[in-house]
Amino acid sequence: MRQSKLFTKTRKSAPKDEVAKNAQLLIRAGYIHKEMAGVYAYLPLGLRVFKNIEHVIREEMDAIGGQELILTALQNPHVWKKSGRWSDEEIDVWFKTQLKDGAEIGLSVTHEEPLTALVAEYVQSYKDLPVYIYQFQTKFRNELRAKSGIMRTREFVMKDLYSFSTSEEEFRTFYEECARAYMKIFTRVGLGERTFRTFASGGSFSKFSDEFQTLCDAGEDTIYVHRGKHIAVNKEVYRDDVLKELGIKKSELEEAKAVEVGNIFPLGTRFSDALGLTYKDESGKQKSVVMGSYGIGPARLMGTIVEVLSDEKGIVWPKDVAPFNVHLVSIAGGNSDVVAESDRIYELLQENGIECLYDDRDVRAGEKFADSDLIGIPTRLIVSEKTIASGGVEAVDRTTGKTELIPESSILERLSK
Ligand code: ATP
Ligand code: MG
Repeated sequence: MRQSKLFTKTRKSAPKDEVAKNAQLLIRAGYIHKEMAGVYAYLPLGLRVFKNIEHVIREEMDAIGGQELILTALQNPHVWKKSGRWSDEEIDVWFKTQLKDGAEIGLSVTHEEPLTALVAEYVQSYKDLPVYIYQFQTKFRNELRAKSGIMRTREFVMKDLYSFSTSEEEFRTFYEECARAYMKIFTRVGLGERTFRTFASGGSFSKFSDEFQTLCDAGEDTIYVHRGKHIAVNKEVYRDDVLKELGIKKSELEEAKAVEVGNIFPLGTRFSDALGLTYKDESGKQKSVVMGSYGIGPARLMGTIVEVLSDEKGIVWPKDVAPFNVHLVSIAGGNSDVVAESDRIYELLQENGIECLYDDRDVRAGEKFADSDLIGIPTRLIVSEKTIASGGVEAVDRTTGKTELIPESSILERLSK
C-alpha cells in the first residue's frame, strides 16, 4: 500500500483525555480512532493488526476442533431469564434496550445462554458429542472504568468458545487441550515468555478457573508468578490452601502487575440444566451436558502487545501481528532515479507476496523515519541516492535498530528468512 494514499496520518499527540499508553500510541500512529471513552474504531492499519491476531486465534481454535459460527448481538431476554442472569444484579455490565412496542432486549454481553439453547435443538445423543463451538463477536459491556485504552472497552470483539461434553472427564481433556492452544496463541503473537497460566477464582460459574495473565505495568490485576513452573496465582486466590494444592511455596513467588488476556472456565451443568440441554447416554439415560467457556479479547491482546513491546520512539510489532512485513521508505528528495528505483522495489515485493507499506510521500527524511518508528513495522527498507550508489537497500530492524546493506539481488531471499 502506498502511504501517500493512506487516508490516515500520524499525529504529534493523542487526545488529552487519553491516558493509556496503548491507545495514545495507536491513535498517534493512525491505527485506531477514539469515538468516546471506552469505544474505539479500527482504522485500516489497526484492522490489519486485528485481523492478524484473529487469524492466529482462529488457526489454533480450528486445530483443536472448533467450529466457527456467529451468534446475534441483539439478545432475547427469554433465555437469560431461564438462567437467572437477566437481572442487573447478576450481570452488572448489561446494556439493554427496547423494541418500539416496549419489549426489552439485551445487547450481547456474553453468549452462554443463547448458544446453549441453540445447541439443545441439535444435540440428542452421546453420538452428537462432544462439540466445540466458537465465534468472533461483539460484546457490549457497560464497564465502570474505561481508562485502559483498547484493553478495556465498552464495545469489543471477543473470541468465545464453548465446549459441550458428555462427562467431566471428557470436558477436562478438552480444557487442558485448550489451555495448551492458548499458550500457543500467546507465543505466536510475541507474548509467550511473559504470559502465565494463572490460577484464579471462578466468578459466577465455578469455584476455580484459569486465566492467562501477561506481565504488564499497566495491568489491572495482581498475580504471584512462579518463574520455574511458568505458572501464577491470582491475588484473589493467593491463600495457603490454594498454594498447597498447587504444590508451590510463597517464597518461590514474585508479585507482579498483569493483564488478563484470556481465560477458561469450567461451567459444569449450570447452563445445560437451566436451558434443558441434555443427551441420551449409551444406556438410554438422559444426562446433562458438561460445559466450559474459553475467551480471548483480540483487542486487549493488541493493546497489551503495544504496552509491553513499544519503546520511546513508538510501537514495535512482532512479525506475526504487524500490519505489513516491510516498511519501504523512499528518500528521494526530488531525485527521479530514486523514485523509479523505489517503485521498482515496491513492485518486486508485491509480486512476491511480501506485504509492504510504501512511504512514497514527498516529505523530509526525518519525518519519514519518525513515522516509521511510530508505526512499528518490523523491517524498514530505505532507498536513497546513497543506497543506490552502493548497489542495494538499507535494512533496519525495528526491534534491535540494527542496520545492514542488502544487495538488490538478495532482497527477496533476505526477507523470506
Ligand atoms: P475482566 O475481569 O478483565 O473484566 P472478564 O472476566 O470480564 O475480564 P471474560 O468475560 O471472561 O473476561 O472475557 C474473556 C476475555 O475477553 C478476557 O480475558 C479479555 O481478554 C477480554 N475482555 C473482557 N472484557 C473486556 C473489555 N471490556 N474490553 C476488551 N476486552 C475484554
Ligand atoms: Mg469483566
